[in-house]
Amino acid sequence: MSRPTRAEINRDAIRHNAALVRSLAPDARMMAVVKANAYGHGATEVSRCLEPVVDALAVACLEEALELRDAGIAAPILLLEGVFNADEWLIASQQALWVTVENEAQLSALEQASLPQPVSCWVKVDTGMHRLGFAPAEVLDVVARLAGCPGVAGDPVLFTHFADAETAGSNATADQLAGFEAVGLSLPRSACNSAGVLRLPHAHYDWVRPGYMLYGNSPLAESTPATEQLRPALALRSAVSSLRTIERGQSVGYGGKWTAQRTTRIATVPIGYGDGYPRSAPAGTPVLVKEQRAVLAGRVSMDMITVDVTDLQAVAIGDPVTLWGPGLGLHEIAEHVGTNGYELTTRMSRRITRTYLDA
Ligand SMILES: *Cc1c(COP(=O)(O)O)cnc(C)c1O
Repeated sequence: MSRPTRAEINRDAIRHNAALVRSLAPDARMMAVVKANAYGHGATEVSRCLEPVVDALAVACLEEALELRDAGIAAPILLLEGVFNADEWLIASQQALWVTVENEAQLSALEQASLPQPVSCWVKVDTGMHRLGFAPAEVLDVVARLAGCPGVAGDPVLFTHFADAETAGSNATADQLAGFEAVGLSLPRSACNSAGVLRLPHAHYDWVRPGYMLYGNSPLAESTPATEQLRPALALRSAVSSLRTIERGQSVGYGGKWTAQRTTRIATVPIGYGDGYPRSAPAGTPVLVKEQRAVLAGRVSMDMITVDVTDLQAVAIGDPVTLWGPGLGLHEIAEHVGTNGYELTTRMSRRITRTYLDA
């Protein structure tokens, strides 16, 4: 392999973060969310690593679940959005998947399906996100219909999803929890994503559903004793591939949008928006070169970025570069780009080789 651009994923860090979730929610079962290729970390590898230490996995859709079953993952896997068409009930049943029921079309398809084995269902309650789920007042009827349906295994789990659990003291979260509590059925329940795990111990219920924090990232703006213990699992790395000195007044990159204000040393690094490094990252976005901070200069290209290394000692071709990871927080890059860390890791493209370490 010659192009040095890669993501290093530390499985020990993922296991450590899962253990942290356990210690924060000791009485709840843990469903690890590995949708979107485990937030870019590699769904199969991450699921293999987590399967022994979590109670279930969750993905967005059937295709993602089948990828895991094909890789030999036997743990329960929940389809967080349920089925997208009636035929998927049969496959879900054959593959022993757990399936969300969140709308009437899914529910009536289930009632009409003839399935080789009954399916465990999670009923989604819309408490304020207004994206998926039944209104709290509809849940009693939905649960009764599931109880009368031969394709359903056992009692459903009731779950809901927060719109604003990141925000301390959010009124929206309090309203959502009140709506969820008001359903009033004695069934297993689940509400918390990572932010809820960190912020809402009173809402851990029977199952927690962390995603982002398992990868070592905190969704909270402030740091807490728990977030301090998270270990970032992924380092996006490359190396300096070219170096030049330009004079004051010369510009760098497409559109000539960045102009040197002094004699400037420019390091070129072979990673660009074709790899998922965001094109919207502005000049000034930090980059680690030889563990020292430098900044982007000029536009991100498809395959390359250019970095102002004038103030760094003796930079040479081949010197290591970190785009985000330990030493350069994902959230810091996200802030420069105007997005969140979730988008940065999920958009890392196929061109990024994932390598897995256990240390
Ligand atoms: C993605 C997702 C989660 C995990 O959220 P994080 O913020 O990554 O912890 C939990 N529940 C549902 C329904 C989700 O879609």
